[in-house]
Amino acid sequence: MAKLILFLIIVGIIYFIFKSKKKKTTYKEPPIKDLIMCEKCKTFYTKNEILKINGKNICKECYDNS
Ligand SMILES: [Zn+2]
Repeated sequence: MAKLILFLIIVGIIYFIFKSKKKKTTYKEPPIKDLIMCEKCKTFYTKNEILKINGKNICKECYDNS
């Protein structure tokens, strides 16, 4: 019985190491870095929702309304 518990602990440790390693390697830049502020409505949008109009970052919504 003691052997089984020890085995489970070892498996648990290996699993924990594997999980934390995987987390580290797949770590990406936080998505907040990809957010761009619309200079018209001062709202943050993702890159693909922002249009560059005359050097200014304008969101699609403001662009449609203008
Ligand atoms: Zn806007």
